[in-house]
Amino acid sequence: MKRIALFPGSFDPFTKGHEDIVLRGLKLFDEIIVAIGYNSGKSVRYFEIELMLDCIRKTFAGYPNIKVVTFSELTAEFARKNGAQYLLRGLRNTTDFEYENSIAQVNRYLNAELESVFLITSPQFASISSSIIREVHRYKGDVTSFLPYKL
Ligand code: ADP
Repeated sequence: MKRIALFPGSFDPFTKGHEDIVLRGLKLFDEIIVAIGYNSGKSVRYFEIELMLDCIRKTFAGYPNIKVVTFSELTAEFARKNGAQYLLRGLRNTTDFEYENSIAQVNRYLNAELESVFLITSPQFASISSSIIREVHRYKGDVTSFLPYKL
């Protein structure tokens, strides 16, 4: 059976750290669905969802086994509908761990078939965060070296 992983996130914006998780995930899975979702805890987006969809699609244009979509429902439910058996997430530090741990427990409760898989960040991307990129961009700073595409 094809191993399909869902990589959900706000991706506001999608960074080189995210790209690294997807490309490393390809060694484990036959197909990865990158799914841009709405994180209710993060309210209003900074980068338009349609813009991010385009940017991520451009980033993985050469990869037929990477799909890029948007979604606005429970992650566990979206995974079930799309035949994903795995939920891929990245971990940078203990703050990420605390957050990911609670999400993973809820997702297990909602869909027991869905296995969460975590990849530890590569050291060169450990300090890249979407929120810092948003701050730099807001004040017209250059963010190109943090992103795998041109804005
Ligand atoms: P969410 O709003 O769902 O937390 P994010 O877009 O912030 O979505 O992150 C998506 C996933 O990518 C999360 O698992 C997060 O921990 C992970 N991630 C974010 N930045 C990095 C990075 N630099 N290296 C590795 N993983 C990362």
